[in-house]
Amino acid sequence: MENTVLVVEDNELNRMLLTTILEDTYHVLEAENGRKALEILQDSKNSVSAVITDLIMPEMDGFQFLEAYSSSLEFANIPVIVSTSQSDSESEVKCLEYGAWDFIKKPYNAEIIRFRVKNVIERSELYVLRKLRYQEQFDTLTGIYIKNMFVHQTKKMLKEYPDVDFMILHFDIYQFQVYNSVFGMRGGDKLLCHIADMLRKMSGYVEHMTYCRIEADAFCICMPVAGNEDIQRMMDCFQKDLQSYQRDYNILSNLGVFYIEDKEASIYGMIDHAKLASKECKGNYIQNYHIYTEEIGKSIQEAQSIVSDMERAMKEEEFVLYLQPKYGLAEYKLKGAEVLVRWITPEKGMVSPGKFIPVFEKNGLIMKLDYYIWDKSCRLIRNWLDRGLEPFPISVNISRVSMYNPRIVEEIYDLTVKYNIPPKYFQLELTESAYTDNPGTIKKAMRQLQEYGFTILMDDFGSGYSSLNVLKDISVDVLKLDMKFMAASGSENQRRSESIVANVIRLAKDLELPVIAEGVEEKEQVEFLDSVGCEYVQGYYFAKPMPVEEYEKLAFVIESTLKA
Ligand code: C2E
Ligand code: CA
Ligand code: CA
Repeated sequence: MENTVLVVEDNELNRMLLTTILEDTYHVLEAENGRKALEILQDSKNSVSAVITDLIMPEMDGFQFLEAYSSSLEFANIPVIVSTSQSDSESEVKCLEYGAWDFIKKPYNAEIIRFRVKNVIERSELYVLRKLRYQEQFDTLTGIYIKNMFVHQTKKMLKEYPDVDFMILHFDIYQFQVYNSVFGMRGGDKLLCHIADMLRKMSGYVEHMTYCRIEADAFCICMPVAGNEDIQRMMDCFQKDLQSYQRDYNILSNLGVFYIEDKEASIYGMIDHAKLASKECKGNYIQNYHIYTEEIGKSIQEAQSIVSDMERAMKEEEFVLYLQPKYGLAEYKLKGAEVLVRWITPEKGMVSPGKFIPVFEKNGLIMKLDYYIWDKSCRLIRNWLDRGLEPFPISVNISRVSMYNPRIVEEIYDLTVKYNIPPKYFQLELTESAYTDNPGTIKKAMRQLQEYGFTILMDDFGSGYSSLNVLKDISVDVLKLDMKFMAASGSENQRRSESIVANVIRLAKDLELPVIAEGVEEKEQVEFLDSVGCEYVQGYYFAKPMPVEEYEKLAFVIESTLKA
């Protein structure tokens, strides 16, 4: 926000001197007498922030100028500084009478002049008003437009160039709260300013472009339509810049694209569409942009109905715990269970987690659901203990999204305190791919949980790309090997599969990690697993996930022995 200062001085050299002193900080206008100065002031497009005037000038001198100035209400807020050659208290009093704000003396002292000008401008109401107006238009952190101004400018641009096809881009930083918690609020602010700078630079070479910070970590751009390749190239550039900005953290941004067809339509609506499209790529490193389509609109609506349903469903206890027993192969005895959520609704019946968990993971509600299930599970253990039963441990699932919660360790620990249950009964399953998401944070959280006495199971081992790598540098207590990821029996690849399983189990033994094979459906699988030294199995062959009462019958009354 550059202020304008008007220098009124007949002596050309003095005028030049003053201009030189001020022009680094201000836009400077010059007038060689009072009349010219009034003309400039009256021309409202020169919104002047302060005036410096000489006293003795031809045509209209400083006193006459001050007289006209003080009698005009519209100038009342514009501060005037009078420059005098010697201290002449009589004329100073006269100047003050006419409303002069301050004085500067000849010969000029650059520093004093700059301070006095700065001070009077800051004291003027005009300054306050302009600052307020500025805040209405610009984001105070980054200095670029805010949403309303973006909408305004974009509307103007679309009208001005009816022959150009435009698109709206919406992008934000994936898991910005995580970035904030790693680098602090200041670090987060710095990143946002850096992005704003990138947009400024970009607007230098994109011909028609508007841009703004829409909210928090989200930015919008309107620019001429580009094809997939160009968008991809732009994203690659952007990603590369972010990478060099912060080398030790993978900043990932998600971009949504909306091609404008109806230029008369609401710009707010267009922004929303671009935002919806950007949501499609949450967290995907390869597909980091999405173009809005009707289907996206529809699937978002469906997801939204699941979301609005969720809060109600939680209140009405539609989420139910099922337990799937785990068996020890040594004695073929039940040794524990995994907690699996089921959504049972009066209309739709049982909805499988495969349907709603991905939706909840996308919008973050999974954190709430996870906590709900953990709470119910701890309560269930408490209930068994109160009834004098000696329970087997049960394991709950932790969504990879929940691992981004910086308070996860406390929340889990606090639950076991709340229900007063020893951590050994409450085990935690974390899917293998979560480790590769943000290994640093997860490693730390896991170590703390283990120090509290929790057992950690690595879920879906073998499903990721880096299983063996992960094992090398993360400490887990149990491996869950999913047979789903192995070739079906009788298939060509069965032999290879079996050899992989056997080797993984051998490796686990070397690391002193017990293995649970899950998804075990066939007798042959059980026999094979037994023969290669796998300790535990879980799967339809032994038992499907079941309601709590049914599990209690298995676990506490008739301890099942299956070999017989
Ligand atoms: P998961 O953690 O790998 O759970 C094992 C899944 O395999 C369960 O599916 C289970 O019913 C199924 N399964 C067990 N034995 C067999 C078998 O022999 N054959 C076959 N084909 N499948 C078997 P489910 O209950 O549908 O859950 C699917 C996924 O949803 C789970 O995979 C887990 O990732 C997630 N999930 C379930 N409950 C929760 C929960 O409370 N919280 C979180 N965050 N995720 C959950
Ligand atoms: Ca699991
Ligand atoms: Ca699993």
